[in-house]
Amino acid sequence: RTAAMTAELQQHIREIPDFPKPGIIYRDIAPLLASPDALRAATEVMAAPFKDEKIDIVAAAEARGFIFAAPMAILLGAGFVPIRKPGKLPFETHSHAYDLEYGTDELHVHVDGVQAGQRVVLVDDLLATGGTMQACCRLIERCAAEIVGCSFLIHLADLGGEAKLEPYRVESAIVY
Ligand code: AMP
Repeated sequence: RTAAMTAELQQHIREIPDFPKPGIIYRDIAPLLASPDALRAATEVMAAPFKDEKIDIVAAAEARGFIFAAPMAILLGAGFVPIRKPGKLPFETHSHAYDLEYGTDELHVHVDGVQAGQRVVLVDDLLATGGTMQACCRLIERCAAEIVGCSFLIHLADLGGEAKLEPYRVESAIVY
């Protein structure tokens, strides 16, 4: 990624203070999604680090991960696999529960969504504490697939997310 491209993408991220609660600066990607040029550029920047990695599957958790993962899959010549909240996937699933600030959450993937040995890139719009992506990694590991790396539009670097995702490669288009 070039500095100019990062700066251009960053112009389309809107900061909303105190959403969804006091003290959080919400990074709203809606303006970026609504811009044809920025949407294309973001998708290309997120896919580029993996273009020579023979990726089989791009996997992402709902909802905002989906937005980037499907067009990235097309760019990489890969398939797309959804990771979803409980009660959404109709076939047999692997599940992984993980801690939130208050309480727990759970993500699921179809047991046949990713085959053993397939090369997988995981995608989300934003890396904060890394809890969501760590849960996604555990699910793909349960499928005995190979995680080639994780790709984010935005990385909030001082929240420790990258350390939580070790030993996996972490790529992001914009770092705050
Ligand atoms: P985490 O599991 O802490 O890495 O949080 C990542 C998930 O929460 C992502 O799917 C984001 O969409 C969302 N998220 C966390 N912090 C923010 C923020 N400051 N602005 C927008 N979305 C956020």
